[in-house]
Amino acid sequence: MVLSSAASTGTASSATGVTATDVSGGSDLLPLHPFELPGDPLSPNRNLAPITTRINGLGALEVGGCQLSELAHRYGTPLYVLDEATLRATCRAYRQALERFYPGPSLALYASKANSSLAISALVASEGLGLDAVSAGELLTALGGGMPPERMVLHGNNKSAEELELAVARGVTVVVDNWNDLELLAAIAPARSSRVRLLVRFTPGIECHTHEYIRTGHLDSKFGFDPDQLEAVLRHLAECPWADLDGLHAHIGSQIFELEPHRDLAGVMADALQLARSLGHRCSDLNVGGGLGIRYVAGDDPPSIEDWVRTVSEAVVSACSQRGLALPRLLCEPGRSLVATAGVTLYSVGSRKAITGLRTYLSVDGGMSDNPRPITYQSQYTAVLADRPLAPATEMVTLAGKHCESGDVLLKNLALPAAASGDVLAVFATGAYNASMSSNYNRIPRPAAVLVSDGGADLIQRREQPEDLLRYDVLPSRLSSLS
Ligand SMILES: *Cc1c(COP(=O)(O)O)cnc(C)c1O
Repeated sequence: MVLSSAASTGTASSATGVTATDVSGGSDLLPLHPFELPGDPLSPNRNLAPITTRINGLGALEVGGCQLSELAHRYGTPLYVLDEATLRATCRAYRQALERFYPGPSLALYASKANSSLAISALVASEGLGLDAVSAGELLTALGGGMPPERMVLHGNNKSAEELELAVARGVTVVVDNWNDLELLAAIAPARSSRVRLLVRFTPGIECHTHEYIRTGHLDSKFGFDPDQLEAVLRHLAECPWADLDGLHAHIGSQIFELEPHRDLAGVMADALQLARSLGHRCSDLNVGGGLGIRYVAGDDPPSIEDWVRTVSEAVVSACSQRGLALPRLLCEPGRSLVATAGVTLYSVGSRKAITGLRTYLSVDGGMSDNPRPITYQSQYTAVLADRPLAPATEMVTLAGKHCESGDVLLKNLALPAAASGDVLAVFATGAYNASMSSNYNRIPRPAAVLVSDGGADLIQRREQPEDLLRYDVLPSRLSSLS
């Protein structure tokens, strides 16, 4: 059960059991109510809802001890809610699994592109994790949140000279992606007394799809050096007095449910490690990237964090011992699996359009600007009414956003109890790649974000105001005089 304390309210799952099948008579989508799933408090990526999700005495949904509809009234909607306990539990799951299954030193780095803010950086830093940044903005956000630079790396397939300078000046490790990075760094580095710490990223030739993967010699990817180039890069770096090659990096994909590709990656990386060390590089770090999937809908069944870390650890240990290599420090870069399940987005229900015999649209006050994943990737989500999460469903609706795109649909075929204008709707698993991919399409301001914990809520991102969106517009005076 996700709702471990729900049973004590006497409601729990007996009142549920309403499925898409009940109202549509045939669909096998979303067969389970989110709270009927077996929950996994030790691996939040396997749950639909944050680990603190409860039904309170009023029958309303609470996260982090805060009633969600109450948060919606206090902070407005759309609202990103982030559960501190879930985020901390996930950080600990990674750290503890690495300590348990990897016999050498290790560090999990949060891939901050999943959701970058001062508060999240501070939380992740306080749990002892590091962080990966892909831009000056993510880098400054992490530093501003107190993330120690020595636990950070800078990624990117087209880093600017300014971004590289910032990383080098702050002592952040640079993940070299291409020859351009090396040329820019060579121009920056000699002016400094200390060496620049580097990882080299290469394309491992392992491509993942959700339920299968293929291996090819050369991958069509914009990231990292082609494996063919690796030896030349390593030889070149051996001649660069300004460079310290700390290790190697590879990342195979995202929302991955298989463990096999990660196991194979260890062998490919150990070969590269052997080559680097044979050329005189210390190469003490092996960074295997991120990619572990999460549960967005009932049918998703990702591996646990523990199983992922155990698989990666055992594979690295065995690949190194087969080649007689001293164990590297093991780095990994979870993004989605670290933060997605901690997030819930609240919307207010607005207009309704029933097309007889076809579809009922229920519109909310957000959409593709605060969650571009459905329109971009056809991603699926799970949602309930915040104050009646266990009420029997009476209709099937399509949850539409408010943007001027027909494709701005957050959820298709959602079984809901009769919802009226003003009801608060909670969409789960929105902590990753929602806020960070948000836009101002239609000049819609970005939502506020609150962090909930033990019954308290802290604002961590202020709501944008329509006026804020004019801040960078410039009206040339010859145009303003026209009116
Ligand atoms: C996106 C990315 C990650 C994180 O991926 P998730 O699927 O969110 O875990 C880690 N490392 C690199 C280099 C990435 O590009």
